[in-house]
Amino acid sequence: MKSLNANPNAIPTSPTVNRLVDELSKLPGIGPKSAQRLAYYLLRAPEEQSRQLAEAILSVKQETSLCTACFNVTDADPCLICRNDQRDRTRICVVEQPQDILPLERTGIYKGLYHVLHGAISPTEGMGPDNLKVRELMVRLQNGGMVEVILATNTNLEGEQTALYLSRLISPLGIRVTRLARGLPFGTELEYADDVTLTHALEGRQEV
Ligand SMILES: [Zn+2]
Repeated sequence: MKSLNANPNAIPTSPTVNRLVDELSKLPGIGPKSAQRLAYYLLRAPEEQSRQLAEAILSVKQETSLCTACFNVTDADPCLICRNDQRDRTRICVVEQPQDILPLERTGIYKGLYHVLHGAISPTEGMGPDNLKVRELMVRLQNGGMVEVILATNTNLEGEQTALYLSRLISPLGIRVTRLARGLPFGTELEYADDVTLTHALEGRQEV
């Protein structure tokens, strides 16, 4: 009879459970132990919960797209922010990733529009302006009516390089360019900035 575990020293576990552990451990911030804990949790949880989780994961891929105006992730185009007439259409806040919008919205003090670059300039990783939504930003700005562009890229090297590049590109258009880095410690990823720090950084934003 063929043994399931040819190696007598191998830990005898289910390949099906292992597959789930492997998939979970590919997620950011999930180490092998956490992946194992989650897998065994799901094994014990009601089938309905697993089904809902699986469906939510699939629908985030199948039912969302990027807003054709600001490139935020959205279920409908244009996105809820671009579609909202209560928003200040004379200001655009430029962020690296869609998830950077969330902490800025939580502060409740910014009422303008956004533009998601989908990355930052990083020569070492081969990321230049052409790989980002820079051309699309310039088209929006050239359409007129903009008073201010707030550069809210991360305060790390790539984010600063990107802010500098954009400020040089935008300033000749006669639009006020501000940066909210002041008050945010160097190396801050916007996604993880707390509300109070971010509120101060927004209120105290300065000309580049
Ligand atoms: Zn949008």
